[in-house]
This record gives sequence, structure tokens and C-alpha cells, in this order.
Amino acid sequence: MTSVKDNLIRVKASLPERVTLVAVSKFHPAEAISEAYSVGQRDFGESRAQELASKAPSLPEDIRWHFIGHLQTNKVRSVVASAHLIQSVDSIKLLREIDKEAKRVGRVIDVLLEVHVAAEDTKSGFTPAEIVRMLTPGLIGSLSHTRITGIMGMASNVDDDDRIAADFDALRSVYDTLRGGVMAPYPDFNTLSMGMSHDCQLAIAHGSNMVRIGTDIFGQREY
Ligand SMILES: *Cc1c(COP(=O)(O)O)cnc(C)c1O
Repeated sequence: MTSVKDNLIRVKASLPERVTLVAVSKFHPAEAISEAYSVGQRDFGESRAQELASKAPSLPEDIRWHFIGHLQTNKVRSVVASAHLIQSVDSIKLLREIDKEAKRVGRVIDVLLEVHVAAEDTKSGFTPAEIVRMLTPGLIGSLSHTRITGIMGMASNVDDDDRIAADFDALRSVYDTLRGGVMAPYPDFNTLSMGMSHDCQLAIAHGSNMVRIGTDIFGQREY
């Protein structure tokens, strides 16, 4: 088996410089994260609040933790304590809870809105129509401690490149619509997070500037 270091160097070399690599370390031990850290990786993705809370304290403080899993409102406090970017905001209730907790601890937190375009119902997120409808200047203005810096999405889990490409185009189109519309006054709205191990090159070709890669760096996850 190749090492995490070698994998990371190879993956990194395959990405254009403008694309941020989030190394998805969920279900992998702190030692694997340390190995990636030792060759310069700083952005790591976790999908469970408890796992993040148990790993973060033992690892270097300059790691930027990305929360990418479904987040329940009762776990927001623990995630806000260590997350650099919460990528998986899939309801207004969650957005308001994040804002409240960030305010309570006196920090401003960055979030991405999760947009659902994939064929599977199991994936969460706002539909493109919902997001355009709900993201009003009033809502944005009511958030005092949360910055919406982009959107995150996943393509369908299928073997059909045309379908995957169409999903990425749909995400890109939501991103462009918001950037040219309600988010135009906010230049920090600049992140389009899409692409995983198996589809990241296609995602980049369709406009992604942040990819979330687990398997290609850390190997298969053991559940
Ligand atoms: C697990 C996960 C990834 C990484 O998937 P790989 O196929 O292992 O690269 C990316 N994004 C999200 C939201 C995930 O949950």
C-alpha cells in the first residue's frame, strides 16, 4: 500500500493551484492526519461532531477543520468550537443556530450552503429553487456572526459521466446565480466546493475551486 504522504503529494500535484484541497480524514486516526500534516496539508474534513471534538485537541492548532457531514442543531456548539468552515448547512434552522453559537463564543464563522442536485434522496441540502427563494437580503442581514462564503454539493453516485457533469453544472449555475445576485455585495462569497475522490477532475473542469478528497489520500474507510 502506498503511504498517506505519497498519496497526498500525488493528489496535490493533480490539482490546479487555484483549487483548495480538503483532505477528508473521517474514520481515519490522528496518526494519518499527522502524516498528511507533515507534508504541508492544513485543511482537513470531518463528518461527525464527536469525531471532530475528539481528534482536534490532540492535533496542531493551525489545522483548518472543515465540517462536511449532516449537522444536528444540538451538535452545533461543539462544531463551532473548532471548525474553520462548516460546509454542510442544509436548513435555515441550522444556519440560525450556528449564528447564535458563534455569537455566544464571540467569533465569526464561515459556512457553505449545501445544495442538493444528485439523484439520491439520501443526500441532504437545499434544492436550487429553495436556495434562490430562501436566501434573501433580509436573511443574510440578520446573521451577525456567520459569513456565507459559498456552496457545497455532491454529484449523483452513478457511473455516468454525463449525469455527473450535469450535476456539477447545476451546482455551478446556483453558485453563479447567487454571486451575480443576492451575494454580489459580498466578495467573500467565492467558494464552490464540489468533487470527491472519484469525480474531482470532472468537478474542476466544471468550475470547482474546492475539492474534498478522502479515499485517494487515506485509503478505504473502515466503518
Ligand atoms: C466522505 C466525503 C467526501 C470524501 O469522499 P471520498 O470518496 O473518500 O473522496 C467528500 N465529501 C463529503 C460530503 C463526504 O461525506
